[in-house]
Amino acid sequence: MNDSSDKPRGRFPATLHQVAPGAKPRPEPLRPQRLLQEAAQDARRLTVSSGLGLDNPAMRQRMVARLRAESVHCEPVLNAMLLVPRHQFVDSALATQAYEDTSLPIGLGQTISKPSVVSRMIEWSFLGERARQTGHLGRVLEIGTGCGYQTALLSQMATQVVSIERLKPLHELAVRHLTALQVPRCRLLYGDGMLGHPPQAPYDTIISAAGGEDVPAAWLAQLAVGGRLVAPARTPDGRGQVLVVIDRHAEGYHRSVGEMVQFVPLKSGVE
Ligand code: SAH
Repeated sequence: MNDSSDKPRGRFPATLHQVAPGAKPRPEPLRPQRLLQEAAQDARRLTVSSGLGLDNPAMRQRMVARLRAESVHCEPVLNAMLLVPRHQFVDSALATQAYEDTSLPIGLGQTISKPSVVSRMIEWSFLGERARQTGHLGRVLEIGTGCGYQTALLSQMATQVVSIERLKPLHELAVRHLTALQVPRCRLLYGDGMLGHPPQAPYDTIISAAGGEDVPAAWLAQLAVGGRLVAPARTPDGRGQVLVVIDRHAEGYHRSVGEMVQFVPLKSGVE
């Protein structure tokens, strides 16, 4: 079902930003499982081709200016992206690419999503009934913590974030990242996110960074009335992935479909 009446603004996915030409420093080979503190120390010493250090807020201001130009207009999302140091969530060897609009490997075959995709999904979450009324995302369930970058963003806009990751090393990586940055209002769980997390349901916002055949029934059951779910799911012809937006109203669920996307697979069980 495709409904344009409640369709969020803007194009999705946003156009790829063209990065400036020129070699970027690659101080050492990728080692995804390095300790954050080590990686963060290295990243601080690095500069990008503009000559700016990664800790310089101007790096994030440029990224946000590009997102605005690509029609992301949700101020809470843009403010959070100004605050959260994305370079501290990726390996130091990749840190100089952290403010480009690109997904980057975080280990175990997984990736941190592109800033344009993350910002668009959170912007769409803000268009849910309850979020529009309250101006925040309320209680959030995030599936696929990964390195914890999106969790850190969500924590700036939520009353609480419950985030689930099925790969233990990534769960532990996210714990280190979010602890080091003292990110508030987050509860990180190691488990199968397909089951959601009933003890803290219902959730005003459910957002998934991994895409399955369809949206699991457990997520629908755990979505609050007035809440909104944003997740990738397989297209009906099975050939690709599409972003699905589901709103829960007192009288039932309303599903709309956005544009094609490419997320890592949603898998059951834990590893
Ligand atoms: N937002 C994350 C993106 C990580 S990629 C970030 O900022 O880094 C998506 C993640 O979803 C992967 O880490 C993958 O392991 C995880 N995932 C896939 N299926 C899952 C499931 N059933 N439960 C929890 N996490 C899952």
